[in-house]
Amino acid sequence: MVRVGLVMLQGARHIHVETLERAAQEAGIELELHELRTDADLFESRPEAFVLPGGESTTMRLTGGVDGSGLLPALFAWLRADPELPVLGTCAGVILLADPQDGGAPLIDSTVDRNAYGRQQDSFQSELEISGIGDSGTFSGVFIRAPRFAEISANDTVVAKHRDEVVGVRNGARLALTFHPELSGDTTFHRWLLEAVLLRATA
Ligand code: GLN
Repeated sequence: MVRVGLVMLQGARHIHVETLERAAQEAGIELELHELRTDADLFESRPEAFVLPGGESTTMRLTGGVDGSGLLPALFAWLRADPELPVLGTCAGVILLADPQDGGAPLIDSTVDRNAYGRQQDSFQSELEISGIGDSGTFSGVFIRAPRFAEISANDTVVAKHRDEVVGVRNGARLALTFHPELSGDTTFHRWLLEAVLLRATA
């Protein structure tokens, strides 16, 4: 049984539910999925892994910040307290991890530039090379007003590339992808998250 907390503040969250369920089924793992909207949701469910979906980071900060539901500051403190907790951050989720704006340290060491590909019409889908996650190979990456990595930290391992550009890194148990892995029908990254919890339990 793996308890996953999915941040449900805004954005591309519902497809993550389907993708996690499919990943769990494929891996033969029993999934207990908790939808997180408030800090109380986090404290009650105590997830063993987290998904921070894409969407609009500004809206997420408003709905989940100290003047909103309080989820984000509670989550960031929770993640800092246990750096080994597996996390999958995608697109806007990466922006939050890199720049939590709660007065604490960033949750990944690489930095990102928001909306660095341009406007909504500059969104695109392209084949990526992935490595070190699942079976290395190609993955169909969907980029929607995506951020771009500005500086890749020496602490981070590159897991996804679009041509020569890094679009996914792993910082220990935290995976940060600038694209939307839930939109391509491929469960590789969600499966990695579930399996990371089990690996941790047996380590
Ligand atoms: N442009 C969004 C932001 O700045 C991110 C886009 C996405 O998550 N698809 O938050």
